[in-house]
Amino acid sequence: MKHQHLVILGTGGTIAGRAANASDNLGYTAGQVGISELLATLPVPPGAEPVISEQVAQIDSKDMSFAVWATLAGRVSHFLAQPDVQGIVITHGTDTLEETAYFLQLACNPAKPVVVTCAMRPATALAPDGPQNLLDAMAVARHADAKGVVAVCAGTIHSALDIQKVHTYQLDAFSSGDAGPLGYVEEGIVRLVKNWPLANEGRASSAIKNIVELASLAEWPRVEIVMNYAGASGTVVEALLAQGVQGLVVAGTGNGSLHHALEAALLKAQVAGVPVLRSTRCLNGRVLPKPGDGIPDSKGLTPVKARVALILRLLSAGQG
Ligand code: ASP
Repeated sequence: MKHQHLVILGTGGTIAGRAANASDNLGYTAGQVGISELLATLPVPPGAEPVISEQVAQIDSKDMSFAVWATLAGRVSHFLAQPDVQGIVITHGTDTLEETAYFLQLACNPAKPVVVTCAMRPATALAPDGPQNLLDAMAVARHADAKGVVAVCAGTIHSALDIQKVHTYQLDAFSSGDAGPLGYVEEGIVRLVKNWPLANEGRASSAIKNIVELASLAEWPRVEIVMNYAGASGTVVEALLAQGVQGLVVAGTGNGSLHHALEAALLKAQVAGVPVLRSTRCLNGRVLPKPGDGIPDSKGLTPVKARVALILRLLSAGQG
């Protein structure tokens, strides 16, 4: 049997962050330490498979761009196609981790594990959390049955579908909401409490037909998020329509409720051919549709993930 490889792709984030002072967990610069340097600090278990690492980007994930997504999806699909690659680990900032994870799930729909990991403290911290998260992510990537895009942080495994950053500072910054996590990593052992995620789970259309094409796209579909709140109006939607927005997601209040002025502007957008999805600004639960709703619900996707799904829907429609 061929040696199975793990592939580790670095994109930056706090896990690769550097601060001038080891006790400073805030005043650091993300995306400074190279992926090979991060890997060099980790213990190598006896008999561990060879690791291939690649620096795909070196950014703070607040600055995540379509260009980086295109490169990342290209490298992920390249390595997934290699028969001797067991799985992929991606180091990423926590701020937009859930968007990248969901984008990769939809775009690549992997039958092998793609494990996104991160840290809340920089690599230079007195007690950095990145090395343990990276080790845990590698344990998930080498699990025989693992598949799909998952994220690992603070010993917890989340599906790309359900993960959300819910804390600004604590090490266990993510939650899978009322769906709950997929499982845990304990001393290098994966303990699943749910099944590995099913492809896309019926929430959005399937994989992009040509991942390679993403890199040469001049422009990605412009999809923006608007929010309902006290005193909301239709002016932001009207301004976006005037600028040629191609899709809209609305983060409604409660069960997707909308101020009547905002709703009227969104209905006008739909009539003008701009698709709109209704999600909720609530942290838990999903928008439950009811008869007479003029705007379709996001099938449980959070506003940022509904935006990813709509971007990919528009992209795959463009691919014919
Ligand atoms: N701003 C950082 C990033 O998302 C935060 C982090 O990684 O924790 O890259």
